Amino acid sequence: MRGRRVLVRADLNVPLDGETITDDGRIRASVPTITTLADRGAKVVVCAHLGRPKGQVKAEFSLKPVAVRLRELLGRDVAFATDVVGDSARATVDGLQDGQVALLENLRYEPGEESKDDALRGDFATRLAGLADLYVGDGFGAVHRKHASVYDVPRMLPHAAGRLVLAEVEVLKRLTEDTERPYVVVLGGAKVSDKLGVIANLLSKVDRLLVGGGMAYTFLKAQGHEVGGSLLQEDQLDQVRGFLDEAAKRGVDLVLPVDVLAATHFAEDAPYDVVEATAIPADREGLDIGPRTRELFASKLADARTVFWNGPMGVFEFDAFAGGTRAVAEALIASEGYSVVGGGDSAAAVRKLGLPEDGFSHISTGGGASLEYLEGKTLPGLAALEG
Ligand code: ADP
Ligand code: MG
Repeated sequence: MRGRRVLVRADLNVPLDGETITDDGRIRASVPTITTLADRGAKVVVCAHLGRPKGQVKAEFSLKPVAVRLRELLGRDVAFATDVVGDSARATVDGLQDGQVALLENLRYEPGEESKDDALRGDFATRLAGLADLYVGDGFGAVHRKHASVYDVPRMLPHAAGRLVLAEVEVLKRLTEDTERPYVVVLGGAKVSDKLGVIANLLSKVDRLLVGGGMAYTFLKAQGHEVGGSLLQEDQLDQVRGFLDEAAKRGVDLVLPVDVLAATHFAEDAPYDVVEATAIPADREGLDIGPRTRELFASKLADARTVFWNGPMGVFEFDAFAGGTRAVAEALIASEGYSVVGGGDSAAAVRKLGLPEDGFSHISTGGGASLEYLEGKTLPGLAALEG
């Protein structure tokens, strides 16, 4: 390892407010692999993406603020390259001594990174692979992407999985093989369409499925209730009716909200009332689950031996509508079972609410990646590491 140039694909895709990192969880999760490699004397070249600059250099997507935070968390210097595979990247990598760390600029500044064209992606991957002797895949949040840095580069260099990826996969295995029962999954968040695949697959595996957040209204509507101005995906109603039938057939306890906080409009300070989930007024929208639902969900979680939670129960970004998410998080913390939080916003909510991260068995860094794994899909980035 000493003296070898190791390209580490990390997931440093953190939320930014201007240049301020509002949640550094993913950077912290990347530290163990980078530290291990540097301690062994490798020249560590870290690459990652931030946001969606779509193949263009845009200052607001620069990884510069991330380099600063990474330096603090590693407690060692991080050389920052101002491009991905250009002059700066080559000079920065050439300048590394054994045990030193560099970070390349945002991978997605390069159109080749995300290209669907195998040749274009391959060209960029060749240039990226040229910066290193070995590859370590540790960007769990991106392993479901068929991108150059995730899928093509590991096929060009001797490769291994990093510590974060290994830990995340172990957790997901525990959620899919020989799962301890009762197995309860809690789903929330904004869109049903994001979670269709996982619902379809989990209905054959779970004992209970609790649905809250914005996606619950499509379920309530599918049962024939009016949901006012709440989030609704009309085009998913048939699918959702299918899920309701299937859950009944399989004896899965599919639990929907019984009451909601119905607000006059979508705002932090919007007036609201607690109403029955089956009687949401036409001029109101549900922004959080209500107090009876919080209790109901907590009771369904109390004896769980395994819990997977993805998606906030309400608009937790507004303090007034964060209570449902807090209640579910606290029920997971209270439970003695194996509890896993997946999803960028869910993990951010846990930290924003000031809840102890060690109250959960695992907080995943990957939303889409965890969901696709639980859907039973092959993840390109994991397949490439196994090959
Ligand atoms: P995750 O990133 O954890 O997978 P999602 O991205 O699916 O979660 O959903 C998170 C978003 O869902 C949050 O921004 C939250 O405000 C929104 N949300 C939750 N409940 C509601 C609701 N009732 N109405 C509108 N948006 C909601
Ligand atoms: Mg999200």
